Amino acid sequence: MSCSFDTNCCSGLRDEGAPPCDNTTRFLEGCLPLPLPDDVLNEIVPKAKDFALLHGAGMRYRDRYDADSLEMAPFFLLPSAFPRREFDRVVRLQPLINILMHRVAHNHEFLESSLRNTIKVDDFTRRLWEIYTTVRKEGVAQALSLGMVRSDVMLTKCQAGCCQLCETPPYVTVHQVEVNTIASGFGHMGPVSGRIHRYVLGELRKAELLHHLPENAALSGLCDGLISAWEYYGNPKAVILFVIEDITYNICDQRFHEYYIRKERPEIHVVRKNLTQISQRGILTDDKRLIIDGDEIAAVYFRAGYEPGQYHSEAEWEARLNIERSKAIKSPSIHYHLAGTKKVQQELAINGVLKKFLSDSEAAQVGQLFTGLYTLDRSPEGDKAVEMALAHPEKFVLKPQREGGGNNVYGEDIKKILEKIKDSVEREAYILMDRIRPPLQNNYLVKSHNPVSLTEVVSELGIFGVVIGNNEEILDNKYAGHMLRTKLSSVNEGGVAAGLGALDSVYLF
Ligand code: ADP
Ligand code: MG
Ligand code: MG
Repeated sequence: MSCSFDTNCCSGLRDEGAPPCDNTTRFLEGCLPLPLPDDVLNEIVPKAKDFALLHGAGMRYRDRYDADSLEMAPFFLLPSAFPRREFDRVVRLQPLINILMHRVAHNHEFLESSLRNTIKVDDFTRRLWEIYTTVRKEGVAQALSLGMVRSDVMLTKCQAGCCQLCETPPYVTVHQVEVNTIASGFGHMGPVSGRIHRYVLGELRKAELLHHLPENAALSGLCDGLISAWEYYGNPKAVILFVIEDITYNICDQRFHEYYIRKERPEIHVVRKNLTQISQRGILTDDKRLIIDGDEIAAVYFRAGYEPGQYHSEAEWEARLNIERSKAIKSPSIHYHLAGTKKVQQELAINGVLKKFLSDSEAAQVGQLFTGLYTLDRSPEGDKAVEMALAHPEKFVLKPQREGGGNNVYGEDIKKILEKIKDSVEREAYILMDRIRPPLQNNYLVKSHNPVSLTEVVSELGIFGVVIGNNEEILDNKYAGHMLRTKLSSVNEGGVAAGLGALDSVYLF
């Protein structure tokens, strides 16, 4: 069969509610018509499952934790179409986003004015803020910070002629969902998803399509950042600390970071501790060296510490403070963590603000990624946003200052919450954001112990960036690979561990 993939068409991307378009009807039409015949599906799915399991696409069982076994991570059988132009654009822009986040993290006045109201009502952000100000007062022992950030974007439909980008098809662009500065995961799962899809397309005898799947060096990109931090620290006997959850479900993702470091640099040890263990066994010396179980810590990689539930008592907060006081290089430092809050994201989207941090042309390019973000402060603008959200809740997402998925509010629930808090300071703990409606595609969700069927899905692309520097200068700054998560179009948020989202990779067209 000839492959007539039409780059001038929507490639299977379509609007919510719209019928499949005549030209392409379905993803990869002409190359790989969907649905796949049953016999093809029955053969490819077990092969793909084995490939996934044997290449580390696994997680701990969520409902019955067992240290001796792993469950296959859910994944989509086929890669998802993503316009090459938009992919290239966000890859190209990532170093600018790194610079932006680095400069925001180091701008005390901006952090202060952005978060001033939030910390009055949001206890968690306030506690982070207190650590930040305490260490600022005492004197920062380590001027270098390691940013391992992930800018998440979704495709969105735009009308022909609405902006310069849309002069040629496809009429889709990207909007940023958020920038993560702490625990930006999937450095292993991102690349491994692409490997699953290479294998699947190969087994389907579609090797001619493989050039649509881009290289993805996320694992090495992120880990090389940690190795650089370790080198900057300058003690060959010191180790890298991963701050972990009490139970790590996404264990493969984390362990492969560790194994990469071990393979590249056998002399560097990685130790894994949760905040409770650090509180019990960590020592801060007078010269601000952090020692845990006799190991001096050169670099700290937080894969936990981003949600209140990970701080069981004052002891865990004390541990976070001591890490921050130390001269270990942290990813993130506390000011980087604060720079990644939703409130700061919203403040950055205010007209003209980006120009404080970037040149005019850079600010214009980064600003094109933003969608509408609105303050809910008790100000005339905040009142207007409340009114807007009450009138059209389906057009917005209400966001508290939380990470890790599952915290945002959608649709009628926005109304319920806003009705309750609209006249109180509590509303200042949230921001409001335009709801992005990404185009739909069809794909097969492969999930352990579940039948495989064709479903409607939407995707979120994460672009990794690594940046190292201090208040004065940036020493390293690069794009560091990507990851794609796809979820059923019927759900608001699709965490992979929660089973509503799954691993995916991009098919560029
Ligand atoms: P978190 O830090 O918890 O990951 P996000 O802002 O990324 O918070 O929101 C979690 C999820 O909610 C996203 O992965 C996405 O699926 C959905 N989401 C967030 N913001 C929007 C938006 N503006 N439009 C559509 N979906 C959104
Ligand atoms: Mg986040
Ligand atoms: Mg997110």
